[in-house]
Amino acid sequence: MQTKLWLLDRKKDLDKQLQEAAELIKKGELVAFPTETVYGLGANGLNSEACRKIFAAKGRPADNPLILHIAKLEEIIPLSSNLSASAKRMMEVFWPGPLTMIVHKSDLIPQVVTAGLDTVAIRFPSNPVANRLIALSACPIAAPSANKSGKPSPTTAGDVLADMEGIIAGVIDGGACDIGVESTIVDTTVPVPTILRPGGITLEMLEEALGAVEIDPGLIKKDQIPKAPGMKYRHYAPQAEMYLVEGPEAPEQIKKFVELAVGKGLRIGVLADKKTIDLLPDNANIVSHNWGSTKAELAEKLYIYLRRFDSEKVDLIVGEGTTEADLGLAIMNRMRKSAGHNILWAEKGKLIKQSGKTPDFLPENMLK
Ligand code: AMP
Ligand code: MG
Repeated sequence: MQTKLWLLDRKKDLDKQLQEAAELIKKGELVAFPTETVYGLGANGLNSEACRKIFAAKGRPADNPLILHIAKLEEIIPLSSNLSASAKRMMEVFWPGPLTMIVHKSDLIPQVVTAGLDTVAIRFPSNPVANRLIALSACPIAAPSANKSGKPSPTTAGDVLADMEGIIAGVIDGGACDIGVESTIVDTTVPVPTILRPGGITLEMLEEALGAVEIDPGLIKKDQIPKAPGMKYRHYAPQAEMYLVEGPEAPEQIKKFVELAVGKGLRIGVLADKKTIDLLPDNANIVSHNWGSTKAELAEKLYIYLRRFDSEKVDLIVGEGTTEADLGLAIMNRMRKSAGHNILWAEKGKLIKQSGKTPDFLPENMLK
């Protein structure tokens, strides 16, 4: 299949430029489009056949339900039933924006969208291109991230093409995504609204609007299955094995880690704070990307750097952990998953094994 690419000119009439893409969605084809979080792989969300194509294109497990995207607040009404007070409040405060709500579904929604669950995930994105595409398609658009399952989510049209060229009908190039990590998912069907996936709308923002908010224990505890089916899979993973170093002495320990890897002739990718990168020696086998100066900048660039490590052909990657305040909760959730939970804690001159693997070049006396 030839994949069409529409390069948008934001100064010109959007509707005209999106007409052909909307026609393809109406016909049951797949079109990738930008949102404020990441690029989505869109299909008519009321057409089972079209939604099945999403699972095939991504190689997505059939038990991982899709998010329906709408273009107006009131479009949630026919898709849901029994909206809770917290759901109504969240719509008011956070929509349009990077917040997905889990609500009771209506009979309109095909089984394939919800993977058989009696709830459905709904989001009203703020990106104007996404908004006009949904409106012109005249249906809710089912759209997971437009990557192959397991890979980092795409934040540019080029990333989408790298995974989906020849497989889907088209890609709308609307530039890079602002937020860079996926939407926050909140279950609104339980007595206390519960975060199933941290994202662009932070815990702090939700608490301010709603009062009590919980975090799904499955996100934190290793022995509990997450409530969002998609959160149980290895995800966001670059090709090279990745290790995450957290804790108060992360900079010094990352320096030792990198020197040992390079000493073994390995090419290593480093994603860390600028201060940590400044400690590293000059060496052609050290490929470093610095976090930037704010958490928003790190979120925006996270997947870009993880994908870049693939093209930079590194043998392994070491990432530095950050605090979990604000956007840090989403960033750390994605970094830990990218690292396949290979996590080390740096304290008291040692690297303490938390979970997953440790590389074999680390000497026993460095580990605990
Ligand atoms: P993606 O669009 O790739 O970001 O994936 C959508 C995420 O929403 C996945 O983690 C799904 O498991 C989650 N999700 C979708 N529908 C539901 C639902 N009804 N209940 C819980 N999680 C859901
Ligand atoms: Mg995804």
